Amino acid sequence: MCAYCGRRATATTITLDHVAPRRGQSAYDRRDNLVLACADCNGAKADMPILAFLLRKRERSSMLRRYGAHLSPMLVDLVRALAPDGDAAPRVKESFDDLFTDDESPYHESPYSD
Ligand SMILES: [Zn+2]
Repeated sequence: MCAYCGRRATATTITLDHVAPRRGQSAYDRRDNLVLACADCNGAKADMPILAFLLRKRERSSMLRRYGAHLSPMLVDLVRALAPDGDAAPRVKESFDDLFTDDESPYHESPYSD
């Protein structure tokens, strides 16, 4: 089951996705930074920061809330902020600025645009 879109994938096509971007991450390969993802979602995410990826499709936050309970507390908090009731409108602004320091901020376009 893909943690981002909820689609089923077979054992030969499912992939492991690193939720937080690898750059600067010392705990890169820990279980609390890994989810199962279908090839489409993994390819769409590539090295995109998780926040930007989730904001592009709102339903990804709801899915990750359901399938990402094992993730690190920072990631769980992020997903909960984006999907407070599982599928309600995301509340982003109060947490967005706290999540990344300037040198980690890789956004080249507004994460609020669709
Ligand atoms: Zn997917």
